[in-house]
Amino acid sequence: MPEGRPPIPMAIQRDVLVEAGHRCAIPTCRQVPTEFAHIDPWCKVQEHTFANIIALCPTCHSRYDQGHIDRKAMFQYKANLSVLNHRYGDLERRLLEIFAAEPEMSVIQLPGGFRIMLSYLIRDGLLVPVDLGGPKGFIMGMPMMKHFGLTQSGREFVTRWAQAQPVG
Ligand SMILES: [Zn+2]
Repeated sequence: MPEGRPPIPMAIQRDVLVEAGHRCAIPTCRQVPTEFAHIDPWCKVQEHTFANIIALCPTCHSRYDQGHIDRKAMFQYKANLSVLNHRYGDLERRLLEIFAAEPEMSVIQLPGGFRIMLSYLIRDGLLVPVDLGGPKGFIMGMPMMKHFGLTQSGREFVTRWAQAQPVG
C-alpha cells in the first residue's frame, strides 16, 4: 500500500504560525502568506514535529528548497524567534524587525506613551529614548511624540538576527 504524507497536525500548525506571528520567519522578509516548511526535509524525517517546521512565505520556501538558505541558518532563525517571543512584546519585536530590514535606520518616532511597551528593549540596552528637540506637546502627562534610538548593542542584535546568528 503506498504511503501518503499525512497532514501536519493542527496543533503543530497553530504553534508554528504563532511562533512566527503568522508571517514568514525570515527576519528581513516577514511577508504573508505563509507555507509550512520542514527544515530537515520530509523525505528524510517522515514526521511532523514542531521543532522541525517553520513558517515561510512562498518565495523564501522556494529559496530554501533550492539551497539559497542553508539548514543551519533556518534552525537558527527558528531558535531566534523563540528567544524574541519570550523576551519581548509585540511592539518591541516589530521595532526590531524594522531595524533589521533597514540597516541605515537608527531612530524612530513614536507616541511618548509607547515607552512602557518598549521597556524591555530599553532595559536590555538595545533601545534608548533620545531628545531631538522639536515641539514639546503633552497628552495626559505624557509626551505626544518621542524619539527612540537603536543603540550599538541594538544594531548588533538585529544584525545577528538578520544574519541567522544566535541573538542571545
Ligand atoms: Zn519570506
